[in-house]
Amino acid sequence: MSREYPVHESFYSWQGEGLHTGRAAFFIRLQGCPVRCSWCDSRETWVSNPPGGLRETAEALAARASKTRAEFAVVTGGEPAIHDLGPLTSALHGVGLRVHLETCGAFPLRGSFDWVALSPKCIAPARAENLALADELKLIIEAGDDLVAWADFLRAHSLKKDCFVWLHPEWSRRADEAFLSTLTDWVKEHGFPWRTGWQTHKLYRAE
Ligand code: SF4
Repeated sequence: MSREYPVHESFYSWQGEGLHTGRAAFFIRLQGCPVRCSWCDSRETWVSNPPGGLRETAEALAARASKTRAEFAVVTGGEPAIHDLGPLTSALHGVGLRVHLETCGAFPLRGSFDWVALSPKCIAPARAENLALADELKLIIEAGDDLVAWADFLRAHSLKKDCFVWLHPEWSRRADEAFLSTLTDWVKEHGFPWRTGWQTHKLYRAE
């Protein structure tokens, strides 16, 4: 029997953050996240199986994705890694799409991924084996002090040597000039692997 997933939404748009910003992508946002960050902008995804919620098979999702001009599929959430993503990634690969995963890294990864964007959270530490697989890290920065703490965190873990580390201002601080200057100064002072930028899909409302 086909594997079904609890789907919060799926849609065709473009990637708004990270190295693949601006590229056409088909997004699959799954239900369920036990992490519960205080600043989460997708709280409606926290419940794994909401009453009356949509469930779709891996094949149905892949079939819809294949009808778009998407360059890749993005599996996101919620926290998608609480699910066995093997059937979904197989179905997406079966229609010729590369699969990008967006995860906090705190749960074992099940599935085959072509790109792993990992956004570690202090309240749910990322697993070392997931950090070692990450192609980019995305850090939500709420205060300048966070930068030193994240630098310490990175020194304590093994990453791919070409893994970028993005500094995204927490959205309520996106226009705080003094705070943004702190991010600018950090990137100028430290260089690779640090990068900074807005989560641009929020500006375009591209979701
Ligand atoms: S891990 Fe992501 S989806 Fe889960 S609470 Fe945090 S920001 Fe929200």
